[in-house]
Amino acid sequence: MGKRELGDTVVVVGGGLTGSELAYDLARYAGKQVALVEALPDILSSGPAVPQPVNLMLRDLLDYYKVDIRAGHKIVGVNDEGAVIESVITGEQFTIPADDVVFCIGLKPNKSLKEELMYSGIEVFEVGDGVMVGNIRTAVSAAYEIARKI
Ligand SMILES: Cc1cc2nc3c(=O)[nH]c(=O)nc-3n(C[C@H](O)[C@H](O)[C@H](O)COP(=O)(O)OP(=O)(O)OC[C@H]3O[C@@H](n4cnc5c(N)ncnc54)[C@H](O)[C@@H]3O)c2cc1C
Repeated sequence: MGKRELGDTVVVVGGGLTGSELAYDLARYAGKQVALVEALPDILSSGPAVPQPVNLMLRDLLDYYKVDIRAGHKIVGVNDEGAVIESVITGEQFTIPADDVVFCIGLKPNKSLKEELMYSGIEVFEVGDGVMVGNIRTAVSAAYEIARKI
């Protein structure tokens, strides 16, 4: 797949940390007109808890850079005009005009080479997001525990 610039209007799907940070970056640094769609009643409420100061700052920044937050809505389609979203409560559907739609709906571990390497004769340990998606603290803590044992 080749690369290309995003258009002026972007719908980001998924209001977790990744989607919210991306929406902010696109609005602030790339000057895009951004809508952020989240199925839950609020953004930044799924997955590992986002520290309160980050949570509050990000909300303020999204507001300041006029990101159109559509919590309580899920994406049901993409057409020539943009992203078709549906209210989780009423089922009402409408289209948010967009040049591009970016999905940020979840992370899963990218399995490391542990299986391939474990029969090489050297001891192999696995830590971080390759085991379970977390954050820098959980990755460093797991690495520290292993380092203490070897
Ligand atoms: C958008 C986003 C924002 C985040 N913000 C925060 C935050 O504010 N605070 C926080 O604590 N956490 C944050 N996280 C989570 C944090 O980045 C991860 O939990 C952490 O980086 C996991 O560390 P890791 O070492 O397991 O994996 P990674 O940081 O992903 O490092 C793995 C490295 O291994 C390299 N690699 C992969 N395969 C191979 C190979 N075969 N050979 C050699 N190298 C290879 C990769 O290129 C990569 O550099 C964020 C994550 C995302 C996606």
